[in-house]
Amino acid sequence: MERTLSIIKPDATAKNVIGQILSRFESAGLAIKGVRMMNMTSAQAKEFYAVHKERPFYGELCDYMTSGPVVVSVLEGTDAVALNRKLMGATNPKDADKGTIRADFGDSIGANAVHGSDSLENAKNEVKFFFPELD
Ligand code: AMP
Repeated sequence: MERTLSIIKPDATAKNVIGQILSRFESAGLAIKGVRMMNMTSAQAKEFYAVHKERPFYGELCDYMTSGPVVVSVLEGTDAVALNRKLMGATNPKDADKGTIRADFGDSIGANAVHGSDSLENAKNEVKFFFPELD
């Protein structure tokens, strides 16, 4: 049993597909243990994405994540980290397998519908970041 953090990004909340995306997690066997719609502050985005601080797209990424509402959720299930990443598809929607969330709902490498923790260790930190009460 693992827990992972998912974020439905501003492009997907604007498209009115929050329910469809959450439904994919549940249909795949992941249970939603926490969920919240919110507007990330600039400070939260900068801290959350601090691992990408040196990347050229860091500023753009932080601006984007604060440009509209997001839905953060904690998903629980067997191999939740890998399963969520499989459901999301490749970072760039153009490279994502057919039927994945990013292929179906993503527009670009930045506006790619969802974020998902990329390792169990990061998942623990990311869950704690948004849902300290679940830690
Ligand atoms: P992570 O989701 O933690 O892998 O954070 C990386 C995020 O940064 C991805 O989900 C993309 O949305 C974004 N990203 C990655 N590469 C680029 C890029 N070249 N330009 C803009 N955004 C990017």
